[in-house]
Amino acid sequence: MTRVSVVAPAYNEEALVAEFVTRCDRALREAGCDYEIVVVDDGSKDNTFLKLLDLRQSYPALKVVRLSRNFGQEPAVHAGLQHATGDAVIVMDADLQDPPELIPELLRRWRDGAQVVVARRRSRGEPLLRRMATSLFHYIFHRYASVTDPPDTGLFCLIDKQVADVLRQMREFHRYFRGLRAYAGFNRADVWYDRPDRNGAPRQSLAKLFRLAGDALFSFSYAPLRISLLVGTIVSVLCISYATFLFVVRLLNLWVVPGFTTLAVAILFLGGLQLVALGITGEYIGRIYEEVKRRPIYIVADRVGFEASGSEAFPPDQPETSSKTSTGSGLGRLGSEQG
Ligand code: UDP
Ligand code: MG
Repeated sequence: MTRVSVVAPAYNEEALVAEFVTRCDRALREAGCDYEIVVVDDGSKDNTFLKLLDLRQSYPALKVVRLSRNFGQEPAVHAGLQHATGDAVIVMDADLQDPPELIPELLRRWRDGAQVVVARRRSRGEPLLRRMATSLFHYIFHRYASVTDPPDTGLFCLIDKQVADVLRQMREFHRYFRGLRAYAGFNRADVWYDRPDRNGAPRQSLAKLFRLAGDALFSFSYAPLRISLLVGTIVSVLCISYATFLFVVRLLNLWVVPGFTTLAVAILFLGGLQLVALGITGEYIGRIYEEVKRRPIYIVADRVGFEASGSEAFPPDQPETSSKTSTGSGLGRLGSEQG
């Protein structure tokens, strides 16, 4: 029988996680497949982890990975992916904005042969400001990124094991799942759904969204560098023309230039421009520095419900620095496994 994994990151989701697991479990059971639900607790400060442990009593398919602190949605998704063992992996938010009832449809398209099935939002219930910021980002990203996804897609998708393996091998530190998924390629199908509004405040704050937008843009495009080059070129041409003009005026003695204002403006403007260009270059250099350090993308504190270490969930390039796997419903020992 084929095996399906659901991977969901959860940060401070104690209010929603029970319903999420219940609805997922029902959808998967009705689809008639062997399945596991891997919820990654991204260092929640509320009782998400305890809730999940509780839920394991009723849902044996539930597996929990707890990260050592809040790493962010993208690292949490990566952690979940590393632990998923399914022939198909469904990645979705744990806040029920990605309705579990869509799972059978995703599976159907996968069985029909698609290796990447992406859920696209027909509508999205979100506050206006958030929606506007997201639209602006998608517009810029779509225009300048080297590979793109349609703007109405999110995390929610199903990927075949083959695609999941490709994503697992991408070890970059600044991750943007949607970009990596588009980069991986493979044959793809779309499924449409209406995205409901979120119950409670978003965990992905606007600041986190901006950081994600930065990761996406700087990781998938050189547009910022090109823009600085372009602006620099235009300003330089303007400056040279102006200088020529001044020179001619001076030669012909038409008008003696007091000069100071011109000079000051030119110096300040060019100085500012150089700082912008340096800043953009610096952003890329900073990223290179972070990538070469090869720090773990996430760190696992506890693992509950997984078989003893050595299972295929832990690829050989992920050294385990201590044993922390627990098969029972209790807590795994604290360790510092890296991902
Ligand atoms: N999330 C996470 N770590 C974070 C922020 C969010 O794991 O630091 C999870 C969150 O619990 C949810 C999903 O990522 O399941 C999406 O978060 P949210 O609903 O806040 O963002 P949006 O729906 O606007 O993308
Ligand atoms: Mg959400």
